[in-house]
Amino acid sequence: MTYVLGLDFGGTKLAAGIVDTSTGRVVQSLRAATPAGGAETGWAAMRALADQLISQSEHSIGAVGVSFGGPVEADGRTVRLSMHIPGWEGMPLAERCEQAFGVPCVIANDADAAGLAEYRFGAGQGFRHMLYLTVSTGIGGGVIINGALHRGEHAWAGEVGHTILKPDGPACACGGNGCLESLASGLSIAREARANIPPSLKERDPATITARDVAEAAAAGDVVAQQIWGSAMEWLGVGISSASNLLNPGVIVIGGGLTNAGEQLFGPVRRVMAYRALSKQVELRPAALGDVIGIMGGAALCM
Ligand SMILES: [Zn+2]
Repeated sequence: MTYVLGLDFGGTKLAAGIVDTSTGRVVQSLRAATPAGGAETGWAAMRALADQLISQSEHSIGAVGVSFGGPVEADGRTVRLSMHIPGWEGMPLAERCEQAFGVPCVIANDADAAGLAEYRFGAGQGFRHMLYLTVSTGIGGGVIINGALHRGEHAWAGEVGHTILKPDGPACACGGNGCLESLASGLSIAREARANIPPSLKERDPATITARDVAEAAAAGDVVAQQIWGSAMEWLGVGISSASNLLNPGVIVIGGGLTNAGEQLFGPVRRVMAYRALSKQVELRPAALGDVIGIMGGAALCM
């Protein structure tokens, strides 16, 4: 089974790709915006995308793997729900794919799939144990133990973003308070900056201020932006150090939009880890797979 189909169901985009698992390369791919409407509309759009891709391809596929933007049941076959799109609750997505494409299918949530992709094809290659984090609007995670994805008994493992660091802290999307995601995600940084606007962003409509703006303002010397960004990075370092102490991975791979800030993110996290993480050997690396990570995640699940 050299060629597999990787499908990426995101909140804003859909992607389908044929991946050569012997080289870890996407040989062909197609993308589309996630259509408005519910789960059935999204499924129909993905089916059309994949059918088009398969009809254009000279390779026959041996399996299909799906990276889904929401929680998936521990069976690796059924969607639990989508946080953003109605109608996905309980959808037997693997069965749908098997009927549509005539090959076996496995599905996982996007952070788990991305972690496995980085482990097999990207920055985590060569290690036995790996922790993957995506730091973006939210914070997701995936855990690899002895080379295999660790989903947990009820598929809640690896939720580093919902590690509780400050029980009386800000409200979190999960319904709790003070999770890492509520203290260090893109949304939380934007929320802080809208509540306490950095002087260099005073001319801006507060509703449009993003974490990226805060990072840029901080880099340009805005002291308020530096405090907001610095506090978030301190919490990120604390959360990652705690996860490192729990799992002792050989490598921690960080992806997601906030890593575009480069050393502005990795520098403070490394400094916090130097005194908070028990292991001093753990490596911290940026994710390597870029925007094909969802497709590669699907492919990695097939292997
Ligand atoms: Zn939470």
